[in-house]
Amino acid sequence: MSLAMSNITRRFGQTEVLRGIDLTVDKGELVALLGPSGSGKTTLLRIIAGLDWPDAGSLAFDGDDWLARSAAQRRIGMVFQHYALFPHMTVQDNIAFGLTVLPRGQRPGKAQIAETVQRLLSFLQIAQLADRYPSELSGGQRQRVALGRAMAIEPRVLLLDEPFGALDAQVRRDLRRWLRNVHDSAGTTTIFVTHDQEEAFELADRVVVMNGGVIEQTGRPDQIYDHPATPFVARFLGLTV
Ligand code: ADP
Repeated sequence: MSLAMSNITRRFGQTEVLRGIDLTVDKGELVALLGPSGSGKTTLLRIIAGLDWPDAGSLAFDGDDWLARSAAQRRIGMVFQHYALFPHMTVQDNIAFGLTVLPRGQRPGKAQIAETVQRLLSFLQIAQLADRYPSELSGGQRQRVALGRAMAIEPRVLLLDEPFGALDAQVRRDLRRWLRNVHDSAGTTTIFVTHDQEEAFELADRVVVMNGGVIEQTGRPDQIYDHPATPFVARFLGLTV
């Protein structure tokens, strides 16, 4: 099982923001898209999510053409840096929300939703927050809840766009370890966008270094560190060629 991108190209006016992206993400992998601001990471994530469409190229999940599918049909879970939880809903209602709006046929019954929410609360180690409102949570707690909400629908792919970007260094480190554990136990396929190389290298099975709409290098963190493929990668990682 895999998510396969081939020659993904996206232009905004005269600017080619993605210039022929080829990338395959395997089931259960945690892949980091790493690159400076403006390198096209978010645009690629939006295309995978079904929030934007490429001008050329293909995107398929297990051979199924995702460019012919809506966002809802793809069943994607998403967490953003400023992912707005519903302020008027408790933590458990926020997590349940994604399930209550699934298309008829896929939507579980009330009892099953309650069971899923309880299981996630305990799995994510946030059971003690169940009845709180978002305003009563720290930034780190909010992002744990946001991940719970994204995971409730059992997404085929989890997309995380700088989810810890607004948090301070210690909380980020704690959340990294927590996310890595959650990912490993749940077996989710995860794509994580960051401009922070330390975060990418600590978290990911595979790092994809982007620059100016192209992939400069793809590899395991140690491979990239030991053998940066281009002068850009070496510079970006603070290594000398
Ligand atoms: P990153 O996530 O790596 O910071 P983005 O994918 O957000 O990069 O942006 C890549 C480039 O595309 C930037 O130069 C940005 O200004 C441009 N861009 C993104 N979305 C749009 C849009 N809707 N219209 C015009 N330009 C856009």
